[in-house]
Amino acid sequence: MSHAVSRLRADRLARTTRPFIARGSRAPRCPGCRVIDSYCLCAWKPTVQAKSAVCLLMYDTEPLKPTNTGWLIADVIKDTEAFTWSRTEVDERLPALLDDPQWQPYIVFPGEFVAAERVVTEVRLEEGKRPLFILLDATWPEARKMFRKSPYLDHLPVLSLEPEQMSRYRLRRSKRDDHFCTAEVAALCLELADDHQARGVLDAYLDVFSAHYLGAKFQLPIDPDDAPHSYLKAFI
Ligand SMILES: [Zn+2]
Repeated sequence: MSHAVSRLRADRLARTTRPFIARGSRAPRCPGCRVIDSYCLCAWKPTVQAKSAVCLLMYDTEPLKPTNTGWLIADVIKDTEAFTWSRTEVDERLPALLDDPQWQPYIVFPGEFVAAERVVTEVRLEEGKRPLFILLDATWPEARKMFRKSPYLDHLPVLSLEPEQMSRYRLRRSKRDDHFCTAEVAALCLELADDHQARGVLDAYLDVFSAHYLGAKFQLPIDPDDAPHSYLKAFI
């Protein structure tokens, strides 16, 4: 089954003139999970309810990268939309999505780079609305450029993740480095929206993806009974 990120990847592949060569193995990759066939994780794709929605703004080649974790968000969160970001062109479906009254949109970005009056650190929903988290799926320099040059985002509140929330997350997941991938940022947003079950599933699914991806890269065995696989069994 295709989702917003897989469609974006297919579009982007169709538009490339040179083949995009992913680093690492040249063995055929599963179209469902982008990992080489013998390490396919499609059987682990979970189903979970969430009130939150996600809108991914993806930088140019991001959908083509086999390590892109926006793909995992789209696997887990049913209401995920994805757009290729462009400074000059805006897909008309994007402002329409942001204006849709069922959603309460937040652009997720570090508050220290934004005027203080736009910054919020909590999700407080108006009556009858569901949260829509807009995530910039890109490297940090690309994300800064996207944030500055997207006037259709300028009126939205900026949801800034707090250091305490990030350090709690690090502790819970025994995470050692300071870099948060897009799926981890999404998990932090889900937590703020009280989508705790979806948050747990996304974290476990990210760990399962990492195990399969690294397993394929280094030819390591997969343990289907380790903690994240075991966690997901209730959701597949
Ligand atoms: Zn697969």
